[in-house]
Amino acid sequence: MDAILVVNAGSSSLKFQIFEIIDGKPEGRIRGQLDGIGVRPRLRATSDGRVLVERTYQPAEVADLPTAVGKAREWLASLDGIALRAIGHRVVHGGPDYDRPILIDAMVLDRLVEYQNLAPLHQPNNLAPIRLVMDIDPSIPQVACFDTAFHRGRPETADCYALPRSLYQQGVRRYGFHGLSYEYIAERLAEIAPTKDKVIVAHLGSGASMCALGDGRSVESTMGFTALDGVPMGTRPGQLDPGVVLYLLQKGMSQQAISDLLYRESGLKGLSGISNDVRDLLASTDPGAKFAIDHFIHRCGLNAGLLAAALGGIDGFVFTAGIGENSSAIRALLAEKLAWLGAELDHAANEAGATVVSTATSRIKLLIIPTNEELMIARHTLAIVGNP
Ligand code: ADP
Repeated sequence: MDAILVVNAGSSSLKFQIFEIIDGKPEGRIRGQLDGIGVRPRLRATSDGRVLVERTYQPAEVADLPTAVGKAREWLASLDGIALRAIGHRVVHGGPDYDRPILIDAMVLDRLVEYQNLAPLHQPNNLAPIRLVMDIDPSIPQVACFDTAFHRGRPETADCYALPRSLYQQGVRRYGFHGLSYEYIAERLAEIAPTKDKVIVAHLGSGASMCALGDGRSVESTMGFTALDGVPMGTRPGQLDPGVVLYLLQKGMSQQAISDLLYRESGLKGLSGISNDVRDLLASTDPGAKFAIDHFIHRCGLNAGLLAAALGGIDGFVFTAGIGENSSAIRALLAEKLAWLGAELDHAANEAGATVVSTATSRIKLLIIPTNEELMIARHTLAIVGNP
């Protein structure tokens, strides 16, 4: 089969999907992951729920991401009948300029390396597999799809911080992230609820953000210069007074320790002292668990107000990603915070996980739309390289 490979490379896991090209459209066939890199490496891939491979390695065998890419590639190469036409990569940062996916060549790669300064924790991991494929198989087209691209085109007034303008020119801007998810949701909304022009999308996963969509385009979002800003997340705090960071520096905390605190030890995990996983918190009777959830809902509610102001009112609200798609309890709590905007939850529909979870009399439509960033990447990649 003619296929597109989609790669999403993070620091501790490598996710990949094979899409078959059918009548010019990508259809998901194989989904795989090599996680626990350097700790408890495990390769697992499935097709239609059927396990194709499940293999563990010694930590030293898969100690870093490039080795993980090599192992995944070995396994993919062992599959019969796949003619790989192109590879689409999730790349977190497209900098100020890339407002759409792009075919990667040496010049583009140099540019993306420059943006590593803007996303030092994620961008190097995203670029490692690209470089590897360029070295071993330069003939295969590779496409970079950016988390920031969907948010470009917003006016400078929305994208700047109130800092000296020279910093904006240096690239200190409110980029916004989760763009591939929002782009996918915007497309789905056009099919499901085409009359809804002013919509807030809540992408609530282990990373979480919210985006104001006006006529299907990003008007505002809660994430800014990095993926730390906005609503609280599994292990990140969300919006934080930068004075806190100055305080910690003053107390002698190192840059590395502050980075670990903000990326790995805060959010639901830090607040609850129990877990970063909403499932654990909802199941726990510990008061810390309830406190963390209450704070999360409080901040999501405030941010919904902010985004509603950016749009001048809303007529739709979408729940998506791990928490948004799966937790009826969180949706119910958040819907209460939207009551002042006219939201009325249909509790039975919410429990059932229906697409529309608002009542017939609700002033705004509440929707659950499962996101699919990988499919978005496959579509972009196919659009750029053309059909075989
Ligand atoms: P990411 O892609 O950012 O890793 P996901 O969108 O897959 O994250 O979301 C992962 C999170 O979703 C988990 O940390 C967990 O808290 C949450 N989650 C998944 N299923 C449920 C559920 N049934 N109830 C509550 N939370 C859930």
